[in-house]
Amino acid sequence: MDTGLSGFIKKLPLEVFKLKSISEISHDVFVLSFDKKHDFLPGQVVAITVEKTIPPRLYSICSGKDEKDISVLFNIKHDGILSPLLAALKEGDAIMVSPPFGAFLGDEKPAWWIAAGTGVAPYRSMLRSGLANNKKLIHGGRTTDSFYFENEMLDAFNENYIRCCSQESGEGLYNGRLTNWLREQQQLPAGQMYYLCGSSEMVVEVRDILISKGVEIDKIMSEIYF
Ligand SMILES: Cc1cc2nc3c(=O)[nH]c(=O)nc-3n(C[C@H](O)[C@H](O)[C@H](O)COP(=O)(O)OP(=O)(O)OC[C@H]3O[C@@H](n4cnc5c(N)ncnc54)[C@H](O)[C@@H]3O)c2cc1C
Repeated sequence: MDTGLSGFIKKLPLEVFKLKSISEISHDVFVLSFDKKHDFLPGQVVAITVEKTIPPRLYSICSGKDEKDISVLFNIKHDGILSPLLAALKEGDAIMVSPPFGAFLGDEKPAWWIAAGTGVAPYRSMLRSGLANNKKLIHGGRTTDSFYFENEMLDAFNENYIRCCSQESGEGLYNGRLTNWLREQQQLPAGQMYYLCGSSEMVVEVRDILISKGVEIDKIMSEIYF
């Protein structure tokens, strides 16, 4: 019997949608879109699969709450099951999608939004839903093409958009991991929220750095991609 999260995900109701668009926005990284049938709150996820026999995987919505379509951002895991199949889809193909859900929700209060890789997706939804005021976006990636939606983020955040690039250098980029950038900060703003989104390793390491710098645990909200 499936228990826990995987059991919960398998029981989600799924509806069939026609893929409206799919595009590769960076090497092995795609945005796919389909009709918005249900309202959602910025930061929520949907479960997606391509056929009943494959358990759905979760994807953060990266489009704004008032847009006509729902979009998600994903990268191909070459040893994974679903993401290579999603990347091979064409416009008009059928996908199965759950209604949106989740508690990693943005609001209008000051916060730092911290992401690694495709973990930037929920923040793009929050940005496009009007929640970018008083925010700093710190995004980590290995290569200079890892900063998905870079132009949009630059327009929205200016100097409050920190791109931490660990394996390449480039104009305007911090050369190093986002955890190094965080360690170098003398003082972190108190009393505000810190949102963390990405792999479990990144979330745990960032959480430890924040706590070591005096951030209270109840000011840290995490979304772990596994
Ligand atoms: C809340 C949440 C939100 C998410 N949002 C996003 C998002 O916006 N964008 C995004 O790209 N991803 C997101 N993810 C991750 C996504 O759900 C999938 O995990 C990802 O796309 C990989 O799916 P896959 O089927 O290709 O890989 P899977 O087949 O699920 O495999 C994933 C990895 O685990 C390894 N693996 C599989 N089974 C085992 C095993 N038994 N033992 C050891 N290793 C194993 C595989 O080799 C692979 O590297 C999110 C996850 C969560 C939980």
